[in-house]
Amino acid sequence: MNTLKYEHDDIVPFETSGKPKKEQVAEMFNEIAHRYDFLNRFLSAGIDIGWRKKALSQLKGKQIDHMLDVATGTADVAIMAMETLKPAPARITGIDISDGMLDIGRKKLVSKSLNDRITLENGDSEAIKFPDNSFDAITVAFGVRNFANLKKGLEEMLRVLKPGGKAVILEFSKPKIRGVKQLYDLYTRIIAPEAGGMISGNKKAYKYLNDSIKAFPEGKRFLDIMQEAGYADCYKKTLSLGICTIYCGSKT
Ligand code: SAM
Repeated sequence: MNTLKYEHDDIVPFETSGKPKKEQVAEMFNEIAHRYDFLNRFLSAGIDIGWRKKALSQLKGKQIDHMLDVATGTADVAIMAMETLKPAPARITGIDISDGMLDIGRKKLVSKSLNDRITLENGDSEAIKFPDNSFDAITVAFGVRNFANLKKGLEEMLRVLKPGGKAVILEFSKPKIRGVKQLYDLYTRIIAPEAGGMISGNKKAYKYLNDSIKAFPEGKRFLDIMQEAGYADCYKKTLSLGICTIYCGSKT
């Protein structure tokens, strides 16, 4: 039984709902799925594309037969991996607990004729339905912050990674530079929930974004958690003055 919890494990989108976090998170992403891609581009002024590219560049030159994109959402990372990685992975599986997000992702795969090389499945990062040592690489972009049990999710990912395989995790972090920190606070606390709420019709989702970023164990702490979960050769790279961080670890 895995009992170790982190602060953000208890941050939920709908505080009075009483449902388990996982159900609330899936419900929230189902509700905003139709606006998710647009809002990502709009709220980050398109910078999120560069963050995903930079994260994927950590897999550059790696021979990947099967890649797993955890919390794949609308499949942006899976699609970008297939289109930009050299050599391209032979196949990619994306898993997510939100069918609403997966449906949008599947339409994108069809329109890009990638549906024979990328498969999207409903699946939980904390109970991955694949045998041990299945994947050469695993990616998670803006997903781990939403896990109901971070440690279990990281351990499951390590279990299905092949020895020599690499995990790349991209997640929001909080800038530390004075001035930037204050501006970022204002943006995530007020501007993003208002704009996100107006466009998606779900202000709580964008308030949850702010609350979960605040509570997330970022930076060195996250690297320690990865090491405790069993990852080797862990390192991090900070992006855009600390707004985002890439964390990498391997299976020995
Ligand atoms: N990776 C995508 C991207 O880069 O845009 C989507 C990120 S979105 C912010 C977070 C996604 O994590 C949602 O689609 C949500 O359903 C998914 N998610 C949250 N908890 C999960 C879990 N335990 N297992 C699988 N997916 C999960």
